[in-house]
Amino acid sequence: MKIAMMAQNANLYSHQRLKEAAEARGHDFTIIKTLGCYMNIASRRPEVWYNGEKLPQFDAVIPRIGASITFYGLAVLRQFEMQGTYPLNESVAIGRSRDKLRSMQLMARDGIGLPVTTFAHDPRQTDAVLKLAGGAPAVIKLLEGTQGIGVVLADTDRSAKSVIEAFRGANVNIMVQEFIKEAGGTDIRALVVGGKVIAAMKRTGAEGEFRSNLHRGGSAQTIKISPEERATAIRAAKSMGLNVCGVDMLRANHGPVVMEVNSSPGLEGVEKATGIDIAGKIVEFIEKNAAHGKTRTVGK
Ligand code: ADP
Ligand code: GLU
Repeated sequence: MKIAMMAQNANLYSHQRLKEAAEARGHDFTIIKTLGCYMNIASRRPEVWYNGEKLPQFDAVIPRIGASITFYGLAVLRQFEMQGTYPLNESVAIGRSRDKLRSMQLMARDGIGLPVTTFAHDPRQTDAVLKLAGGAPAVIKLLEGTQGIGVVLADTDRSAKSVIEAFRGANVNIMVQEFIKEAGGTDIRALVVGGKVIAAMKRTGAEGEFRSNLHRGGSAQTIKISPEERATAIRAAKSMGLNVCGVDMLRANHGPVVMEVNSSPGLEGVEKATGIDIAGKIVEFIEKNAAHGKTRTVGK
């Protein structure tokens, strides 16, 4: 198959692993820098251009769109979808997962366990949203944050209010969440491929850190997840419409709660922690689903 991967940095572990796995299975694999693509939106002739050349028709495209370039990246991905190329994850599904409020609203509708989450735009509602979230301690999150940046734990109502006000001053969107203390600075990342959990790891924050992100000094270990956790991860992926994703959950007293669904999960931490060939499983999924004539993408 002719497979393209949209990625700004070809050298990242995840991207190298996907390339290796695809080439080992005899596929023709091209890495395209997302921001280097340009497009001609002509009637009935969707084209993607790159380095002065029109790109050929690919059988499948692997979108690895960084959060900071979501807008342009999704436009490029839609253009491939318009050409009938099979996307590993559809543009619409990625768009859902990139918007924290939208994704939580969809998961809530589907009855998936979530931390109590509130949000408001008007700073005059600070007291009210904090109260709705159950008061301090509370976690305050920047909607546009990633890798744990912009996630703050406020121990008291007073500090929560100061944090909310500081964020408001910076004119960013925030949400306030109940603090799941019993998670103990540990979260679970379940890797879902094609409606199945193929690997799971536990991430534990550095000493004294409630955030378990690997980018914040957390460490990863393989774990066995419960049937309820497995079902929750699968339902979260389905709710977003993502074929491949990393579902981040916390172990709350009342069961698993989903914090986030990541449409471009990093492979390094989870492959190293579990020893599972995730890149290989992703390529196998593409082989099964992008078969000629099976592509049913809509790009809308
Ligand atoms: P990001 O998208 O930036 O990674 P997350 O929402 O995943 O932000 O939060 C980062 C980390 O902070 C999580 O992995 C988790 O360990 C911790 N965390 C986030 N929300 C809560 C919460 N409501 N209760 C307890 N810990 C939390
Ligand atoms: N792309 C990273 C991942 O999916 C971001 C999340 C994090 O910092 O843990 O693992």
